[in-house]
Amino acid sequence: MNERAPPAAALAPPGLGGRDLRGWRLARCGTCGLPHDVCLCDELPRVRSTLRVSVVMHRVEALRSTNTGRIVARVLDDATVRVRGARDDAPVEAAPRRCLVLFPFEGARPLRRDDADPDRSRDATLVVPDGTWAQARRIARRDAWCASAEPVCVEPRAPSRYGLRRNARDGGLCTVEAVAEALAALGDDVASEALQQAFDAWRARAGAVRGAVGADDACYGADGS
Ligand SMILES: [Zn+2]
Repeated sequence: MNERAPPAAALAPPGLGGRDLRGWRLARCGTCGLPHDVCLCDELPRVRSTLRVSVVMHRVEALRSTNTGRIVARVLDDATVRVRGARDDAPVEAAPRRCLVLFPFEGARPLRRDDADPDRSRDATLVVPDGTWAQARRIARRDAWCASAEPVCVEPRAPSRYGLRRNARDGGLCTVEAVAEALAALGDDVASEALQQAFDAWRARAGAVRGAVGADDACYGADGS
């Protein structure tokens, strides 16, 4: 399944790892967020998507074991994760030539097949803000890569199957679901399916762990979103 090891930057954003993951007593994998003995990472596929994806993660989101942005970076071959607002932030690299930001701003247009950049010749990147809705909105408005990006959106074909956070917004998708929908809109069924399958496997395991460790560990941040 694993053709080659993913780049370290894609796996371990600053501040991630084990006990630092928020709200949990068990040491956890810094990538899939699961306890180490049920870590899913080695079972996940690696595929190349037809558009490069860059997850821009809120620093609080980076500490949550229920984050799904890291799964995107684990499955997609050259996807990256950048944590925004961390104290030890590295300088932000120059933006790719063409950036699309995935956020449902008013006026955002649906992604379409000709947004794909399979051979990376257009230096195009889909920037995906990752956090609560409010955090993601702030990132989409303020992040340097988003400033010149064209807002794009997806129409979810089915309700979210996430279910691990309270008060999730109706009609909203978690990050890995949103990226899977985006890739489907590009016609990239292989990468979209790979993400969906990875999410299903992760969700099943995260749900089982949650049931096993009890209600205290099942509670996340105060907003629950
Ligand atoms: Zn893992």
